[in-house]
Amino acid sequence: MSAQAVVMQDVVKYYGDFAALTDVNLSVESGERIVICGPSGSGKSTLIRTINQLEEIHSGTIVVDGIELTAGGKNVAKVREDVGMVFQNFNLFPHMTVLENCILSPMKTKKVSRAEAEETARHYLERVKIPEQADKYPAQLSGGQQQRVAIARALCMKPRIMLFDEPTSALDPEMVKEVLDTMIDLAGEGMTMMCVTHEMEFAKAVADRIVFMDAGKIVEINEPTGFFTNPQNERLQNFLGQIT
Ligand code: ADP
Ligand code: MG
Repeated sequence: MSAQAVVMQDVVKYYGDFAALTDVNLSVESGERIVICGPSGSGKSTLIRTINQLEEIHSGTIVVDGIELTAGGKNVAKVREDVGMVFQNFNLFPHMTVLENCILSPMKTKKVSRAEAEETARHYLERVKIPEQADKYPAQLSGGQQQRVAIARALCMKPRIMLFDEPTSALDPEMVKEVLDTMIDLAGEGMTMMCVTHEMEFAKAVADRIVFMDAGKIVEINEPTGFFTNPQNERLQNFLGQIT
């Protein structure tokens, strides 16, 4: 395993002629927990989606667990096996049960047997504290439960890195905590995590470093204490003023 989980160098990403990411440089150590925040439209989702190449980059390099991502198609599949992703809107397959959602990718892309995939799925459903929901369909679950299924589904691939894109923003307030607790749990086990979120209490509790983005750039990166008590960037100062 590489000591550096993710290395982004001079990453530039355009949508048409609009620069969504400009000269992004970020190295994430193995086991490190990074929280990414910033105003809407600042490029947070784009940044996180480039790491498993849901978005292609225009220039620069991204190396994930020692594998260069930008070099061509073959590496992309390999990297995606190592990188789990949890989205704001869960993205579960509605026509499949919770268990089927969890076993699909391991069986399809890792050629794991059904028995083994089911055992792994039940293990992770237990971990996210919903083992009894295995045979239900997503629509029969609350948002918080669906998001925990999405986390379990990602874990079933045994990823080395987990990416989260605002995993609690689509949830009713009373369900935010159950999902954050699940993520705090994961963080405690040494999983490399990159999480876009505005849950600053979570960031304080879990993050090794917090990244603040503005207009496609990383404009501040610091450990939590310095980030909150001594912000340098003016946009960050305003941002912190608005949310606290
Ligand atoms: P954030 O997650 O910080 O809100 P995004 O990464 O989603 O920001 O978007 C950054 C910028 O890129 C925004 O201005 C957004 O409108 C634009 N953008 C995002 N996705 C696309 C797309 N598929 N096509 C064109 N513009 C996009
Ligand atoms: Mg976003």
